[in-house]
Amino acid sequence: MATLITTDRRLLAHDPGQGHPESPARLAAVLADLERAPPAGVVLEAPRPATEAEIEAVHSRPYRTSLQALAGRRARLDQDTAMSEGSWDAACLAAGAAVGAVEGVWSGRVQNAFALVRPPGHHAEPARAMGFCLLNNAAIAAEAARRAGAARVLILDWDVHHGNGTQNIFAARPDVLYASVHQYPFYPGTGANDEVGSGAGKGFTVNCGLPGGQDDADYGVVFHDLLLPAARAFAPDLVIVSAGFDPHERDPLADMQVTDRGFAAMCSAVAELADGACGGKLVLLLEGGYDLEALATSVRACLEVLGGRRESFPSGAGTVAPRAVAATRAALQAAKRPLPAS
Ligand SMILES: [Zn+2]
Repeated sequence: MATLITTDRRLLAHDPGQGHPESPARLAAVLADLERAPPAGVVLEAPRPATEAEIEAVHSRPYRTSLQALAGRRARLDQDTAMSEGSWDAACLAAGAAVGAVEGVWSGRVQNAFALVRPPGHHAEPARAMGFCLLNNAAIAAEAARRAGAARVLILDWDVHHGNGTQNIFAARPDVLYASVHQYPFYPGTGANDEVGSGAGKGFTVNCGLPGGQDDADYGVVFHDLLLPAARAFAPDLVIVSAGFDPHERDPLADMQVTDRGFAAMCSAVAELADGACGGKLVLLLEGGYDLEALATSVRACLEVLGGRRESFPSGAGTVAPRAVAATRAALQAAKRPLPAS
């Protein structure tokens, strides 16, 4: 079965301004690379815009209408988040591409999918734009999956920044597990290892904050000893990945040392998890990643994995990642949701 890519050149119409790292050149670089050498077994599909109901499953109506009212204009929403004339349409298409990827995978029409979208989404809160993000694409996709019949949805977030928006949206819910590995302390400030969710959702948020400098082997420890055991215990019906490529060693915004191989290994780990838990139902959504060349090569590496290639993590982790994993495990234990051994 094929891999679906949902994307659209209309997403390039969102332009937060000259010199902004989240520039249209990011997606343009990915699309140019795919056009130069189209990966085998891939179907491309243009998205429809997300509907009002799909957006309002996550965002408040006043927030949606306030963004919509800015369509066709330039506006600054916070210190680093801005809209251009085409931003509202692009944001609706990005969210729609995320929903379309879920629909393709959930229906069984394709094996897995990658929504190549921008603006990114994981910092967007129910009623606030933040951190380059307007609509929370991953949360909108997870809600669409829930409505389509998925009882439990895993959102695994490997963007180098913590997905504060996604975490908050699902913090009190046991039906969507949010699991993140990210640089910490770092923007946006959330994502400490003892943030494990609240109320009925206690234990259904898993955070692994790491200081900068961690490499492929360190990420391997986090996946094998924390994220994968947590995911398997949750037994998701669908896996969504907030796939940011800013942990890359070449990324200008952060300090991690992940390589293309590391992203292929992370993608292989989630593909194998999805194979075991839910018939391989896996959707990747593009979040950050600000080095154009690293973004294109890492996206390609993940597409190869979606097509069946497998990559492993190298060995040789330091001591920092195991300590972070132990801290998160202790926090989950204290929340009475202990994890099985890896
Ligand atoms: Zn990021």
